[in-house]
Amino acid sequence: MTNRTLASPGLLERLAAGPVICAEGYLFELERRGYIQAGAFVPEVVLEHPEKVYELHREFVHAGSDVVEAFTYYGHREKLRVIGKEELLEPLNRNALSIAAEVADESGTLLAGNICNTNIWVPEDKDTHAAARAMFEEQVGWAVDAGADMIIGETFCWTDEALVALDVIQASGKPSVIMFALDADGLHDGADGVTACKRLADAGADVVGLNCSRGPATMLPVVRDIRAAVDCHVAALPVPYRTTPEHETFQLLEDTSCSCTPATGSFPTALDPFVCNRYEMGEFAKEMFSAGVNYLGICCGAGPHHIRSMAEALGRRPPASRYSPDMSKHAYQGTDDNIPDYYKKLGEMYE
Ligand SMILES: [Zn+2]
Repeated sequence: MTNRTLASPGLLERLAAGPVICAEGYLFELERRGYIQAGAFVPEVVLEHPEKVYELHREFVHAGSDVVEAFTYYGHREKLRVIGKEELLEPLNRNALSIAAEVADESGTLLAGNICNTNIWVPEDKDTHAAARAMFEEQVGWAVDAGADMIIGETFCWTDEALVALDVIQASGKPSVIMFALDADGLHDGADGVTACKRLADAGADVVGLNCSRGPATMLPVVRDIRAAVDCHVAALPVPYRTTPEHETFQLLEDTSCSCTPATGSFPTALDPFVCNRYEMGEFAKEMFSAGVNYLGICCGAGPHHIRSMAEALGRRPPASRYSPDMSKHAYQGTDDNIPDYYKKLGEMYE
């Protein structure tokens, strides 16, 4: 247990006053940096290299994130069972929460606990439902012990599993954010994104929406429909990849421009050619916010530059804006008086 004082204002007060930005994508970013293994995607980094997690939390806050999400995604009992390290379950969760709490407290941001798809849910097997509930209860319990301001339940693919997650979060008394990862054909249970979010909203979730899987282009129209269907706050946290109507999710993107893509496909480690630039992510945030969507962020693939662009598009000026681009002083393309005319002339070759 901690004596952490809850952040003020809390999530709901912040949402009432304006947009809330939540940076996600810790798995992909720390995988690229060499501290997480693609495949199992278990965040052992919180125990093995905690300094890297502190650093990434701080970079995202510096770039404009209002939420520090404890890195417990895929740090649940089933994932640790798969890699044969169930004994790490509690220390991993408690460490992730204490790292995130420290960064939230030093920056005045919100500390979020995190739960997600359990990967054991089978619709007709009630034993798996009870096991999933127990997994949620242990993780939410640790988040409550750490003094979390809110709990995020994310990337669900079964509506009923998300409803159990919501029920457990509600029992904790913490504000809830519930998000679905929507495949091209909808959820595994056949529900579309609007129907699933409506059920969660009707059950009392504070924020409902989508995260992961879809890029801005294929998430935006669905979230617009969700916005129209529910009365609560709505979330949109796409992956920063150029998904299309033909390839609606990043799992479906295939890079055919090189011959060395792994046999398993471009997802998840060879998606680089599809990455959205920062301006596209800013445009997405602006468009969603003007449509009434006020819980915004980016999932797998996000870098701090994407988050800063989103924050600036929403009228913010986070600390990282001190270093936002200013090409006027570029050696060749600059227009500043201090740039020699000779070099400005050379710069015409870039035009
Ligand atoms: Zn993701």
